Amino acid sequence: MESYDVNRLRADFPALSRKVYNRQLVYLDNTATSQTPRQVVKSIEHSYYNTKANVHRGVHTLSQEMTALQEAARERVRGWVNAPSTDEVIFTRGTTEAINLVAASYGTFFKDGDEIIVSVMEHHANIVPWQLLQNRVNVKLRVIPMDDRGVLDLDAYRNLFNSHTAMVAVAHVSNVLGTVNPVAEMISEAHSHGVPVLVDGAQAVAHQRVDVKALDCDFYAFSSHKMYGPSGVGVLYGKRELLEKMPPYQGGGEMIGNVSFEHTTFAELPFKFEAGTPDFIDIAAFKSAIDYLQPIGMDAIAAHEHELLEYTTSRLLEIPGMRIFGTAPDKDAIISFLIGDAHHYDTGMLLDKLGIAVRTGHHCAEPLMHRLGIEGTVRASFGLYNTIEECDTFIAAVKRVAMMLA
Ligand code: PMP
Repeated sequence: MESYDVNRLRADFPALSRKVYNRQLVYLDNTATSQTPRQVVKSIEHSYYNTKANVHRGVHTLSQEMTALQEAARERVRGWVNAPSTDEVIFTRGTTEAINLVAASYGTFFKDGDEIIVSVMEHHANIVPWQLLQNRVNVKLRVIPMDDRGVLDLDAYRNLFNSHTAMVAVAHVSNVLGTVNPVAEMISEAHSHGVPVLVDGAQAVAHQRVDVKALDCDFYAFSSHKMYGPSGVGVLYGKRELLEKMPPYQGGGEMIGNVSFEHTTFAELPFKFEAGTPDFIDIAAFKSAIDYLQPIGMDAIAAHEHELLEYTTSRLLEIPGMRIFGTAPDKDAIISFLIGDAHHYDTGMLLDKLGIAVRTGHHCAEPLMHRLGIEGTVRASFGLYNTIEECDTFIAAVKRVAMMLA
């Protein structure tokens, strides 16, 4: 991959050159959040210093400029996931809020006895919002099982549908196992039963090309901070015909047509779902993150990350007692592991002392941990700027920790 100049890219990320415990940082926690390039931070600085004004309905120049920056970001996001219209791109605080929006709003259509299909590998963000509906309506979660590699059982999935099925909510990519789920196939199955599908795309958008039109998903949720953008911004893509019939999620400014004490009308899409002042500065900077990724190309990023995944996996397996969770054939660059019976926290803490940032714990996927029969894992996850040399440092560090904990 001569054309993929990882060192040129790394120079854009000042955080990567810092030291931890006097060692060069190796940042392998990209699943939790990614680092941010100068270009994005520059955009934030530019907005604060030049155009900070509340968006929409402002008559003055700064407000018009800030509004234009925010709406340019909406258009860039639309193109990024190939949504048909910017009316279908709703800014939220993140994936979590996007899923809560759908559960709270679309969930008003659910009746007692309705069923929501989720998978065993869901993040809590795609479990708990559906359970919260149980305060109002007696809905039940039905769970797609997986095999020991972390591949969903599609026959079992097909058998979960019945006349009560009201929604399918599934992760595009597992944040623990790295499994890339066959969401296109799953969506077409759900649609054959007339059931809408929400895809939790939090772990997909920074690692592969996503086309919501080709997938034909009804909702797609993701976060900016996992794709080298600022924190505090996420997106809900939704099909217009569904968003139009859904009630507002929150009430307040920006989302109304006219308000009186007797009766209020609501704004058109997408503003109907964007109550209050949006995080306009970070939304504008999110566009810079996409502008950064686009010329690199998602196919090149995916190829680079796969090289790191394959190399690191094979070398880690040389370590006695190494247990890797998630061995699906279609897998993104996430490695969850345990060394023998060593506690994940001890491993993570010792790796930190060696300058290596990994995450430990249940990764907000406790039901998956129950399925695996463990309490947690150590998770190394790779991004566009990681190098083979960093993988070597990481592998050597894991070997050292394995000896210390043996
Ligand atoms: N779903 C998945 C699969 C995730 O990995 C995450 C983040 N760990 C979320 C949802 C929640 O994303 P956020 O915290 O940005 O709302």
